[in-house]
Amino acid sequence: MRPLETGPVKILLQNLLQLQELEFGDVKDSATEAAISKLRQKIPLPILEHYSRLTARGKKGVAFARHQVCSGCHLRIPIGAINTLMHGEDIQMCENCGRYLALPPEAPVEPASAVVAPIAPEIKTRRQRKPVVHPATN
Ligand SMILES: [Zn+2]
Repeated sequence: MRPLETGPVKILLQNLLQLQELEFGDVKDSATEAAISKLRQKIPLPILEHYSRLTARGKKGVAFARHQVCSGCHLRIPIGAINTLMHGEDIQMCENCGRYLALPPEAPVEPASAVVAPIAPEIKTRRQRKPVVHPATN
């Protein structure tokens, strides 16, 4: 498969998101149906099939990558995948839940350099750690 160019990847994700919005929405009139089938025609078949496999089980096929976390399963997304998404180089899937990943449209994306430090493992303990405070600057 040839790699997709910058434009098509973003458009593809937009189409997927729009499709998802329509399919999960309450409005199911003929105009919506028409819009859905139009969108489906724009999406490459392998992607559409994967998406449909997820939605057939009542899951959403597209999740947002917010703060480097998948909005579908809340697990971390590799920074490489985020960078690829940010550059619109290729479509990315969550390794855990298999949803397609899209960047949330409203939030400005954090620069990759801001998320270099690994996040502490998500083990919840009863102990309350003191928050790390920078030395006082007074
Ligand atoms: Zn996920």
